[in-house]
Amino acid sequence: MYDFRLNDVAEWVNRNGYSTVALQLPEGLKTFALEMIERLTGLTGASYIIIGDPCYGACDVSQVFGSFSDALVHFGHSEIPSLGEMDDVLFIEVRVDTELDHLLEEVLPSLSQRVGILATVQYIGLLPEVRLFLEKNGHEVFISNGDDRLKYGGQVLGCNYSSAADVSDEVDEFLFIGEGNFHPLAVAIGTGRKVTILDPLMNEVRNIDELRDRILRQRHGAIVKASDAQSFIVILSSKIGQKRADLASRLKAMIEAKGRKADIVVMEEISPDRLLPFDAEAYVSTACPRLAMDDYIRYDRPIITPVELEIALGERDWEDYEFDSISG
Ligand code: SF4
Repeated sequence: MYDFRLNDVAEWVNRNGYSTVALQLPEGLKTFALEMIERLTGLTGASYIIIGDPCYGACDVSQVFGSFSDALVHFGHSEIPSLGEMDDVLFIEVRVDTELDHLLEEVLPSLSQRVGILATVQYIGLLPEVRLFLEKNGHEVFISNGDDRLKYGGQVLGCNYSSAADVSDEVDEFLFIGEGNFHPLAVAIGTGRKVTILDPLMNEVRNIDELRDRILRQRHGAIVKASDAQSFIVILSSKIGQKRADLASRLKAMIEAKGRKADIVVMEEISPDRLLPFDAEAYVSTACPRLAMDDYIRYDRPIITPVELEIALGERDWEDYEFDSISG
């Protein structure tokens, strides 16, 4: 099902003469690591080690591989262009090649005239054929490059939907190709447009409206609770692509200007347990937007995004709610 392009990896390792290479994989692909090492060892003269820590995105490229290896192969994500070139790091996107015709036929009767098409990197290679299919059926199709956090036109990250925002005034709705709900949720809340998901893994077409409304109700509840808090921990991620130090300082100053207490805690892996020693009534996360949106249930006090803090402190109206995003 997956193409890990191990011949390309081996060619890169041999060409650069690396002797020890670290492999970094997201959780869903880690089970393939040992098999990969066996194959790569046969194709190269190098030895391989695995980075065992969790990896959630290209924002999370190992910064310590140089202590025990010459190079790093990061699987499963495309690089984030705005983070710049990284020496001795190879990104191997893992594309999924699949048949979408039946899902496209299913969605066609209810599809609006002007459609923006989007995908995660695993399915980004399918966008040209989706475009062709929709245009043949009389639709106007829009794909935007978004900002420098995105490598491909039409690509969406959970923290960046600029490819959708760019064209949201021109389209009636978005068609998203990918798995899970978080990316399309970001688009739906971020743009206010209807989003229909074509999920090749589940082999289904689904709508995000009900989930969007439920999440917005939850977010409203978290904001109301946080608005009473007198003390806040502002969470700052040390991961290379999540680090928003200026934003964390700005939020701390904003909280203090309201006569409340704020402290910044820097962490790489963020979890409720790791925050327990710090006494505060609410958390504000400047790390990956998924933390507050997806994981809120794990926390015993409100955890909110920077935009939500502005609303909680009366600096922004609920009507101007925005989905948290990290721009390129
Ligand atoms: S910050 Fe979160 S959503 Fe963005 S790339 Fe990293 S893991 Fe994905």
